[in-house]
Amino acid sequence: MKYFIITYGCQMNKSDSERIAAVLEKIGYKNASKIDEADLIVVNMCSVRQSAVDRVYGLQPMFKTLKTKNYKLQTILTGCILKKDRKKFIEYFDYILNIKNLTRWSKVLATPNSLNQSTIVSDLSQSGNYLKIKPEYSSFPIGYVPISTGCNNFCSYCVVPYTRGPEICRPVKDIISEVRDLVKKGYKEIWLLGQNVNSYNSQISINVNSRISANKIREDSRDINFPKLLKIINNIPGDFWIRFTSSHPKDFSDELIEAMSRCKKITPYLNLPVQSGDNEILKKMNRNYTVEYYKNLVKKIRQTFAKIRGKSVSISISTDIIVGFPGETKKQFKNTVRLFKEIKFDMAYIAQYSPRPGTAAFKMKDDVTKEKKREREKILTEVLKKTALAKNKKLIGKTITILPSEYKNGFLIGKSFHYKTVKWVGSKDLIGKFVRVKITDAQPWGLKGKLLK
Ligand code: SF4
Repeated sequence: MKYFIITYGCQMNKSDSERIAAVLEKIGYKNASKIDEADLIVVNMCSVRQSAVDRVYGLQPMFKTLKTKNYKLQTILTGCILKKDRKKFIEYFDYILNIKNLTRWSKVLATPNSLNQSTIVSDLSQSGNYLKIKPEYSSFPIGYVPISTGCNNFCSYCVVPYTRGPEICRPVKDIISEVRDLVKKGYKEIWLLGQNVNSYNSQISINVNSRISANKIREDSRDINFPKLLKIINNIPGDFWIRFTSSHPKDFSDELIEAMSRCKKITPYLNLPVQSGDNEILKKMNRNYTVEYYKNLVKKIRQTFAKIRGKSVSISISTDIIVGFPGETKKQFKNTVRLFKEIKFDMAYIAQYSPRPGTAAFKMKDDVTKEKKREREKILTEVLKKTALAKNKKLIGKTITILPSEYKNGFLIGKSFHYKTVKWVGSKDLIGKFVRVKITDAQPWGLKGKLLK
């Protein structure tokens, strides 16, 4: 029996799929290299935008055809699923299973007739500690390590608090042991994942920070907040990089800026989602910070980094933006353009607002036309192209360290310490080894280089 997993969405979903693979392998399934070889297809979906949900509907004709060829074929839907969509998807999938119940999936699959679909759906509220499952890693040399799951922030446009539930932090000792294990296996880039990594164990740590001394840190302790966790991971012996995502600006403390700057394994790259450059829109988004706060935070991060690591290691900053949020006027959008020009991001992930049922923003009038949303995305992309290109051009002629992670048609592709995508001619066997590459050409979204022997 073979399985095939289709993963949509963020790195957290990618990481979850690695745990799903582990569960399936444990009960005897093998990984199918092609979807039409599979007896079990798992779709790990994302509900962040309607287009992502539509993609899952779009799979149905293919599933129908596959089922006519393989009558044993079963399909599972999991991941971030809205209640409303769950009801609709039930007629398309054999099972809809909650990722938090992953420890119980094997029982369901071993005795398929013992539970009907409605039973499984009604079990969705029960959560198991699925992050304890040892993943079947599939992204060498990049290792994804969740440190928390869920979110308590309720940004008005976001489904995550509804689909993943409240924030649950993973025990420190589990995180450390997973990172150690990955480093031992030769993984070179460790991503610490969470919907809001900055708030890791924060409720407790706020009160106890003052009385903890660094040498008294206990690895199983709930006293360890995110900056302390970074320090512990940074002290794990080995040659590897540490990256993390996602960061909420409101929880980005001075302690975290200091830890990030001092820990040499933490790469000088930060994704800091601002979402809008207008205070009124930020308020409607329930982001709990202002544009001034955000600008000041970026300034502080850049200055501290330069002071501690030296000017040559200036930090790369990317952001996430939503254009066309309900009520966003031309003037308010211009404020976002202004912020873009001021901050000069290295990269930005720009999304057109998409109303998500159940969220607070869903009740607001989605009054920015599709055409305007498209136009606003285009305008911001143009600004970004210029700033990103100017920054990338400065790297021409420089020699930088890259971690190759992909090989395509004679080219190696990898990310630099600063999270720039670099492509050069090279051989597959270099994947997973840090190499030095001289930059020869710069484009807004990437660099080309030559391998130094
Ligand atoms: S911080 Fe906001 S945008 Fe991020 S997952 Fe939580 S609710 Fe969603």
